[in-house]
Amino acid sequence: MYNDNPTLEGVKKQDEKRQGEVFFRQQPQSQPVYPAGTRRFYIESYGCQMNFSDSEIVASVLSEVGFAPTKIMEESDLILINTCSIRERAEDTVRKRLKVFNKQKKARPGTKIGVLGCMAERLKAKLLDEEKLVDLVVGPDAYRDLPGLVETADEGDKGVNVILSREETYSNIAPMRLDSNGVSAFISIMRGCDNMCSFCVVPFTRGRERSRDAFSIVAEATDLYEKGYREVTLLGQNVDSYKWENPETKDTVNFAHLLEMVALVHPDLRIRFSTSHPKDITDEVLYTMKKYENICKYIHLPVQSGNSRVLELMNRTYTREWYKERVEAIYRIMPECAISSDVITGFCTETEEEHRDTLSMIDFAKYSMSYMFFYSERPGTLAARKYEDDVPLKVKKRRLAEVIEVQQRVSLAHNLADVGKTFKVLIEGDSKRSAEDFKGRNTQNKMLIFPKKPGLKPGDYCTVRVNDASSATLKGEIV
Ligand code: SF4
Repeated sequence: MYNDNPTLEGVKKQDEKRQGEVFFRQQPQSQPVYPAGTRRFYIESYGCQMNFSDSEIVASVLSEVGFAPTKIMEESDLILINTCSIRERAEDTVRKRLKVFNKQKKARPGTKIGVLGCMAERLKAKLLDEEKLVDLVVGPDAYRDLPGLVETADEGDKGVNVILSREETYSNIAPMRLDSNGVSAFISIMRGCDNMCSFCVVPFTRGRERSRDAFSIVAEATDLYEKGYREVTLLGQNVDSYKWENPETKDTVNFAHLLEMVALVHPDLRIRFSTSHPKDITDEVLYTMKKYENICKYIHLPVQSGNSRVLELMNRTYTREWYKERVEAIYRIMPECAISSDVITGFCTETEEEHRDTLSMIDFAKYSMSYMFFYSERPGTLAARKYEDDVPLKVKKRRLAEVIEVQQRVSLAHNLADVGKTFKVLIEGDSKRSAEDFKGRNTQNKMLIFPKKPGLKPGDYCTVRVNDASSATLKGEIV
């Protein structure tokens, strides 16, 4: 059962007391090393939302020393690529891009190239020495060092820092919003992961889990709201294990408390979050979601496999039954909530019967959508060390096709059930297909397309009645 946490009032009082203090940098405060605007950086990001959010921290750190962002690689003095190691294809893409960047470097001597993020540690020797593709290699906890590392590279040495930290949360850095629609933004609430899922590289590339100062998160959300943003997504590898101790009062803020603190910033600021871990999501979080209309009724709850034996091999630390119980709890507490998932097919030793458990889980959980992949072994992971990757590629791909087919059927049914309903929609901008239409999301994170009405603009809320649906989109009209 849900209990109001007795410490929450204390937290709110602290919040009021600390309002007005500067929790993160609004503007560059230090003297630029380079005259402002004379050097430009270009950054490409790959992988998860966390990586995109990190690129905004990098942009902020560089802007403090006079670098300006550019979207034109050819005019940049510093080319950065924020990498992802989760899938093999992401690594291949990074290598291809580094070759393109090196061509550009020849055309504009003096340009420096840097690799950031998850690939930094594992591939630093190869990229720096063997392949000589980069001047800088910077791990996810070393972005504050970037200005110094760029200087090192300018002097002709290699700028390298891939040390992982137990403390760094970039709490006091206001991200520079890149590619922003001015309506939705990410807020990173924690870093790293302690979970050790056997297929995953994140615990090795991003280090131990640490939670960011809750007040700095609320301050960032408030700042975004005041700048016109109407939706924030709280990001972490495992948001449900967020835990921050107030150094002054010793009160602990858990994820449910944090959600409430951010929800109270303003009723018109929507809150989303990602990613939830099935073993950690509590009823307290679910009841907090229910309590606040502005906390979106949508949970990304990756199942990975629907079979308990495979889940154990994956070291997910929950069973099929546990997961089903969490899904039931979500629908019981918030019947209107949408759930999405991640699914891996063909994990080591997975049998046909175990694969069918995943198919039936999609039907049981009624996911609105899923991110679906076949298993590919990642070097350095527990699975790579302990298990044989013994499901043939052809079988993995066939199982993936079956998973996709079931998910598409379930997504279509999910969306068709919305036809005739009305939703509060936050307008994000023009639809991709027509400048006559807006696109926007409802609380369940479903994209709606609808004809524009005069007087409305991105960042406004409107009510839309759904009159048509596909497995990916809802179409409707403003009522
Ligand atoms: S929870 Fe598991 S899959 Fe997610 S980042 Fe942590 S180790 Fe990787």
